[in-house]
Amino acid sequence: MESDVKKIKIAVNGGIGFGAKLNSKQLITISKYMNEDDELELTTFQQLYIEIPEVRKDEIIDEFKSVGLSCYPVGNFVKSLRTCNFCKGEEREGMPVAKELNRRFAGKAVPVTLKMAYTGCPIGCGEPMLSDIGIMKFKEHYNLYVGGKAKGKDAEVGFLLKENLTPKELYDTVDEIIAAYSQMGKKRETFLNSGRGWVRIN
Ligand code: SF4
Repeated sequence: MESDVKKIKIAVNGGIGFGAKLNSKQLITISKYMNEDDELELTTFQQLYIEIPEVRKDEIIDEFKSVGLSCYPVGNFVKSLRTCNFCKGEEREGMPVAKELNRRFAGKAVPVTLKMAYTGCPIGCGEPMLSDIGIMKFKEHYNLYVGGKAKGKDAEVGFLLKENLTPKELYDTVDEIIAAYSQMGKKRETFLNSGRGWVRIN
């Protein structure tokens, strides 16, 4: 692959499914855009970072999508939804709702990277309590947590903002929260700091 062209970093993963998996076709497609000594960065958020030539960005992303890879921007955006492994089944654990959350919100521009996590039952394998926005399916409805922080000495568990939401209520509430953060959060102000005031009032 060309080595002196301008590169852009993108994040890829296999989308929302039963576990964070990649198949061999996807790996082969990714490796087409890597030199022998290149490295892939595996993030804690179920994404791989890869650098691709900027001038071919759209074409390469289309090729990645054609083999089932999901592609996201890197930087101050809502990250792709981190999920549990849906061990109890797609419908029972709300995978369609997780996919819709990811479709609606992943990649939206925000003042600082915002992490969202989803878990299909109260066992909480997707660790929603430690994310800026966390969703936990409970029976037939969804509980929404905000303000979790996994990193640092000041790590915090998120608090329950709303419970027993329908999918539509969940989408609308998350939309409101992210829109408010986008508009009211100062440049480089984290969701947790920005949200301390207004989130609790909602
Ligand atoms: S959170 Fe529940 S459904 Fe999801 S992987 Fe864990 S036990 Fe399974």
